[in-house]
Amino acid sequence: MGLIVLMVRKSEQKLKYIPQEVELKWQQRWAQDRLYEVNENDTRPKWYELTMFPYTSGDLHIGHWYAMAPSDVHARFKRMKGYNVLHPMGFDAFGLPAENAAISRGIHPFTWTMDNVERMRSQLKSIGAIYDWQREVITCLPDYYKWTQWFFLKLYEAGLAYRGKAPVNWCPKCQTVLANEQVMDEGLCERCDSAVIKKDLEQWFFRITAYAEKLLDFSHIQWPERIKTMQKNWIGKSQGVEIAFGLEDGLAEAAGSSQQEFRVFTTRPDTIYGVTFAVFAPEHPLVEQLTTAEYKEDVARYIESTQRKSEIERTVTERDKSGVFTGSYAINKLNGERVPIWIADYVLMSYGTGAVMAVPAHDERDFEFAKRFDIPIKVVIAPPDWSDKELTEAYIEPGIMVNSDQFDNLPSERGMEAIADFITEKGYGGRQTTYRLRDWLISRQRYWGTPIPVVYCDRCGLVTVPAEELPVLLPEDAEFRPTGESPLKHCEAFVNTTCPNCKNAARRETDTMDTFLCSSWYFLRYSSADYKDAPFDGTKLKYWLPVDQYTGGAEHATMHLLYARFFIKALRDLGIVDFDEPFTRLFNQGIIVTEGKKMSKSRGRVINPDEYVAELGADAVRAYLMFVGPWDQGGEWDDRGLNGISRWLNRIWFLVLRAYTEDEPKETEIKNLRHTTHKTIKRVSEDLEKFKFNTMIAALMEFTNYLGKVHEERSVTSSAFGEAIDTLLLLFAPTAPHFTEELWTRSGHPYSIHNQPFPEWDEGLVAEEEFTLVIQVNGKLRDRVTVPVTITEEEARELALSRERIKTYLKNGEGSRIIYVPRRLVNIIIT
Ligand SMILES: [Zn+2]
Ligand SMILES: [Zn+2]
Repeated sequence: MGLIVLMVRKSEQKLKYIPQEVELKWQQRWAQDRLYEVNENDTRPKWYELTMFPYTSGDLHIGHWYAMAPSDVHARFKRMKGYNVLHPMGFDAFGLPAENAAISRGIHPFTWTMDNVERMRSQLKSIGAIYDWQREVITCLPDYYKWTQWFFLKLYEAGLAYRGKAPVNWCPKCQTVLANEQVMDEGLCERCDSAVIKKDLEQWFFRITAYAEKLLDFSHIQWPERIKTMQKNWIGKSQGVEIAFGLEDGLAEAAGSSQQEFRVFTTRPDTIYGVTFAVFAPEHPLVEQLTTAEYKEDVARYIESTQRKSEIERTVTERDKSGVFTGSYAINKLNGERVPIWIADYVLMSYGTGAVMAVPAHDERDFEFAKRFDIPIKVVIAPPDWSDKELTEAYIEPGIMVNSDQFDNLPSERGMEAIADFITEKGYGGRQTTYRLRDWLISRQRYWGTPIPVVYCDRCGLVTVPAEELPVLLPEDAEFRPTGESPLKHCEAFVNTTCPNCKNAARRETDTMDTFLCSSWYFLRYSSADYKDAPFDGTKLKYWLPVDQYTGGAEHATMHLLYARFFIKALRDLGIVDFDEPFTRLFNQGIIVTEGKKMSKSRGRVINPDEYVAELGADAVRAYLMFVGPWDQGGEWDDRGLNGISRWLNRIWFLVLRAYTEDEPKETEIKNLRHTTHKTIKRVSEDLEKFKFNTMIAALMEFTNYLGKVHEERSVTSSAFGEAIDTLLLLFAPTAPHFTEELWTRSGHPYSIHNQPFPEWDEGLVAEEEFTLVIQVNGKLRDRVTVPVTITEEEARELALSRERIKTYLKNGEGSRIIYVPRRLVNIIIT
């Protein structure tokens, strides 16, 4: 980065702000005085402000700063506004990168992680935030993950944790499970280039689907609309009907099965007369029975090809639809029509019933499929002005029902209800609500995670480890080999154990938990991080929780932010906590880009904050990040902008420390100063409340410029000027904590500025006022008039020319030139 060149006059050189002499000094003093430590014995109202804790990736980059510095400013503002503020920090420390480092560099994941914690903690301290380090939480330490395991047991006892089959990426050659990132774009194993397939494996799930409806209720939280919409779409509630289709006579018997029908779910029962085919997921258990001898080979080949695809790949709408006919037919019970049964991979077994009715005339995907495979398209909802001609695309809007027997001529909205009633009456099916949300797969075939506290015993089956035997410790001596298999599997000392029940030999579960489980409750632990007898001290939890203000990236909308809501709702139902939403308010910051692009380590486009902090100070970086753009939208990193902020700090430094002498103070100027000061307090307070940091900084810059002018003119009293300077420092304190602390004490105030109340504004002083406009003719005072301060130049000129006393001075009724001095005078020059 370039050196900054400050234009400083020689006499002012003494007054240069040198952050290196200031920041560390105050950080040490605050720590020594425990200035930011908080407890529950406090008469102030509590405020729990939380920033998503960082993953222990090794280095704090500018994105971390962008998440953490502004939220610290907000927390500091709340503190000065009279709240007892908890603003803690910790580390999300389990996860695959630590294990990969172990494999590639031979460093144990624990060592790698704790080295990173060490480094990141010292970087975090350089921000100058109000973190109470007594409360630090590190999720990979046994005193933390012991309780993650304890929660698992609670959820298991409540039936919210269960084992079930789920597909994993499987390399048939390496005979191992692969993580998504180990599968290359073409679906090949990253080690041996074999085609990766999906294989069903017994894994652990959390029953988040049991909370689908409750998770759709956002009425008790104030979250951005965007995030609520993302969660709603992810949960994907749809209301419709489930209806049975018959299987053609003889088909079931021929296959030796008693299955006479299958069920489909549809949100468009009004289109049921337009069904011209049915589609099954390749994994549907009926497929084998339905496939006739003639089509066996095609179907087998198709199923094999789909096993290589991920669900996302399978359901992308732009993709060419693939599928294969089974040779069998289904019966539409409403009209007795016989429709062919296909299988296609865009239908997922895990959604709905794994089979769908296809109505190509009124569904885009079905339309494409029908066109491709030459299946009839039958219109049952008439588009406006439709004259029986063929459709060129699916008509998905409402319309009038046609070709639908007794339902003809009904508007489709009413038809939906009428057909749902009819289906229910006839016993073909009934109304149903489905969700897109799936249960949360928490098993990871990895070492570096919380061990699942379960053992398998030949006599007793699955046995959970009793709570008093927790934690189940991760063994230290696992071997990290690049086989893709969990190192725990081959760790005999870990696997071989005794059954807690019958004391015979048993085997431990070797899967570990998804790290999103660690982050589903860390905010509870901050309330009492040292507590030994439970995950938290109940009294302290009651005092601090829920989190009043949460901040973090929007990319967590459907993962962490949804999991944490589920987790807390489940704990509430189990009587473990007494609130059901973890985060009352949420704010999502944007991202900092460089050269117009997202920063990326691999492309060498990363801003490392440390060097900037070392040169210009943390406060300059803090203020710059808040000025770079609206916080929820992010902005572009630019060294010049940072240097501008640094110069601004120096202007304030100079303004505060250079002696002020008054010279004929004027009442109007003092009034004006008070007005501007209170207007600024109001702007800054309102902006800080709403996270509008960039306009807050702009208001402070304007105020600085104004004070600079006042300083030069010396037209207010020393005490009035001093008051305004104090206000500037107090307003700036949350943003630049070290800088303002230094100036506060240097200007003779008692330590610490951070224990001062935030300035309050007086609405009366903020209100726009009036001033006396002087009207001169050729520089001589001829009239005076009281006008509002909002008067424009045009209005002032007109007013002056229209005054009776002035008119008498004007030959021909007008002046040849008018000089206007804002907020002061109009001078009419007559030549
Ligand atoms: Zn392989
Ligand atoms: Zn046993």
